[in-house]
This record gives sequence, structure tokens and C-alpha cells, in this order.
Amino acid sequence: MNIHWDKIDTVLLDMDGTLLDLKFDNYFWHEFIPLRFAIKNRIDIEVAKKYLEPLFKKKEKSLDWYCLDYWTKILDIDVLSLKVEVSELISVLPYVIEFLEKLNNCPLNVLMVTNAHRDSLKIKFTKTNIDIYFDHIISSHDYGVPKEDYLFWYRLINEYEIDIKKTILIDDSLDVLESARNFGFENLIHLSNPDSSIPPKSSPLFTNINDFRELINFF
Ligand SMILES: [Mg+2]
Repeated sequence: MNIHWDKIDTVLLDMDGTLLDLKFDNYFWHEFIPLRFAIKNRIDIEVAKKYLEPLFKKKEKSLDWYCLDYWTKILDIDVLSLKVEVSELISVLPYVIEFLEKLNNCPLNVLMVTNAHRDSLKIKFTKTNIDIYFDHIISSHDYGVPKEDYLFWYRLINEYEIDIKKTILIDDSLDVLESARNFGFENLIHLSNPDSSIPPKSSPLFTNINDFRELINFF
């Protein structure tokens, strides 16, 4: 890995698909929401899926995609309470807690940077307690732009006085890593196994890890 570990003073970590298993979100949006939408509108689930998929696709990479209020309004379904209903399925990816504990034993600034909505964070923290390991938790909804947008990084580094040369970002989204790289971040790691039910997919553009065992010894 082409990273100067001894110079790193800040670690930025994504949440969904990096710390938490994306299996939950994939199930929630692509199975559970279509199911409830189908029941509510008295249509077949396959019809609901066909109707919803392009709606989701259109909003990818935008803040609306991550916004529970937006989908509650558009689908006329209480998305938040549905999330609570299946929150038992939320789980932490392997070796994440060990890694976070290791980070907390180092003199590092540990920040969560996520596109998840604050209400979504509440549900996930109640279930997993991962918030206790972070100095700061930043939702892109606070800045009004997703991590895919240059402005997100601009606001982040100014608010937390982050030196991008001394910072490492770990994220499962290639679009987010690309956006961070375009902004000037150099130390970028791609989590290539975000959903435990799908085989890992590495990217030729970034350093890839399958899980945090691969990083624990660097800190
Ligand atoms: Mg993610």
C-alpha cells in the first residue's frame, strides 16, 4: 500500500457497506420496500419492483437517495418505521470492532463520514453502538450535499481542520472515492466486500481490502 502510515493523523470511515453489512440496506430497499409498497397499493411485488427500480436509479448519487423524508413522501410509506421494523437484521461487518478499538488506542482523529440520514444513523447506532468509537459523526445531510459532491469535502476539511495529506479515507463506494480523489485526497482505500451475501468486487483504481484484518497491523 502506498500510504505513509506514520504521517496519518485522521481516519475517515464510511458507515453502510464499510462498517455495517450492506446486506441490510440491499434487502431493505430492493425487497422489503417493494413488498410493503405492493401490499399498500394492492399490486404484485414484481410489478412494484419494476415500478420502483427506475425511481431509485434516477436518484442514485444524489442526497435524495439517502433521504428518508424524500422517500416517505414519494412512496407515501413511513420509511423510518419500516426500518425500525427490520432493524434486527442490521449487523456489523467482520473485524470492524477490533479495528475501531485499535484506532481508539492510537492518537488519531476518527471521523465517520456518511451519506446516511440522521434518523437512519439513530437506528443503526441503537442496534450496533458503533458511534462510541468516533470523535465526530458527519452526515452529508448536514452539509446539504452528498459525498459524491466536491463541496462535501470542502466543507468537511474546513469544519474539522483536516489536513488531506495526513488523512486516510475508507469507503465501499467507488463514486465517493473518486470524488475524494478529485478533491485531493491521496490515501484512499476501497472496501471491496460491502455485502456479505455477494462476492467481493475489487477495483483496479484503488487499494482494495476485503475486511479490516488487512489494516489492523498498520496502526
Ligand atoms: Mg457505503
